[in-house]
Amino acid sequence: MSNAFDEVDFDYATVIADRANRLMSEQAVPPTPENFSVWFDYAMGASPALRQTIDTLIVNKRKFDSAVNRDLYVTYINPRSDNAVAEEFPEQLRGVISGAKEFLETAISDNRTQIEALGEVSSQFQAVGDPRPIIEKLVKELSNATTRASGLETNFLKTSEELDKIRDSLKLAELHSNTDALTGLANRRSFEAFLRSAQMAAMETGEPLGLLMIDIDHFKNFNDSYGHQVGDQVLRLVARVLQDSVCEGDLAARYGGEELMAVLPGASLEVCADVGERFRRRISEAHLTRRTTGEEISSVTVSVGVAQFRPAEPAEVMIERCDRALYKAKRSGRNRTITESDLEGKIAAA
Ligand code: GH3
Ligand code: MG
Ligand code: MG
Repeated sequence: MSNAFDEVDFDYATVIADRANRLMSEQAVPPTPENFSVWFDYAMGASPALRQTIDTLIVNKRKFDSAVNRDLYVTYINPRSDNAVAEEFPEQLRGVISGAKEFLETAISDNRTQIEALGEVSSQFQAVGDPRPIIEKLVKELSNATTRASGLETNFLKTSEELDKIRDSLKLAELHSNTDALTGLANRRSFEAFLRSAQMAAMETGEPLGLLMIDIDHFKNFNDSYGHQVGDQVLRLVARVLQDSVCEGDLAARYGGEELMAVLPGASLEVCADVGERFRRRISEAHLTRRTTGEEISSVTVSVGVAQFRPAEPAEVMIERCDRALYKAKRSGRNRTITESDLEGKIAAA
């Protein structure tokens, strides 16, 4: 991506800006600075990926609403603008930076004092005959220098330890803001961000993109019979099996209460149905025992709905179709996987 302050030919930039404005007005995109940077890039043709995605959206007559506009900006222009965590740390960082600045200033002025003192010793050495006082002074200056150096080293270590701590807490905060505490899967927020960027990538590459929606069968009865804590353990087990059932690069998430999701970039509907079936079978075959008493617990089953991304459709529409497939799995007797191709318009009125 080119830098905004790079030398750009004035006439050329004006032509591109006009083109960007015209395209934005044709597509009813509000003329904000963020949107303009997306469409300027598009008009210039600088990024083939951005071009491909926008062309797919236009061909499929997708409205450029605020969600699409934000996704384009975050995906192609400024990925960091989506990072909520980084904003929480400026205070802490400012403290460390001003500490480090002070430390450097002290180091520089100490160093200057030390050089001046040594310069004095050396000029005295040229002027006086008896070397003993000079040697004594030299030893004293060297010992001063050693004390200063170890003081600086301690200060330096403290600063870098503080920086390490900030880096660790940033990592942890980022992890927490994206993770569901009970299951350790991605939370809903991070699921939504992942799905949006997976949709962008699918439009860019033309690759398929699949979605699984999972709901535990009769979980309310299960909680009533065994208690909420055992219910939580089962939820954690289902989450772990789901995580094990998907590949690296896929995302398993907790969508809400006992509903999980998996996003599978690059996977066709058939592949997703296979993954869903394998996962469903593993759950139904699991032998559960109560941790405290060793008592056998009745088996748990899940229902799975599967949908495939249709280029340019909003995330909610894809999720809704997946939900309808899941609903059909429930109505057809539970403990099964149903894909959107099994819907056949029969549920259109549902
Ligand atoms: P269905 O087969 O139709 O899905 O039946 P169900 O009982 O699972 O469906 P319903 O949506 O009516 O109930 C969901 C239940 O899931 C309600 C609640 O007891 C349980 N549940 C939701 N979140 C949690 C959780 O975090 N921990 C536990 N233990 N239970 C939960
Ligand atoms: Mg439910
Ligand atoms: Mg349920």
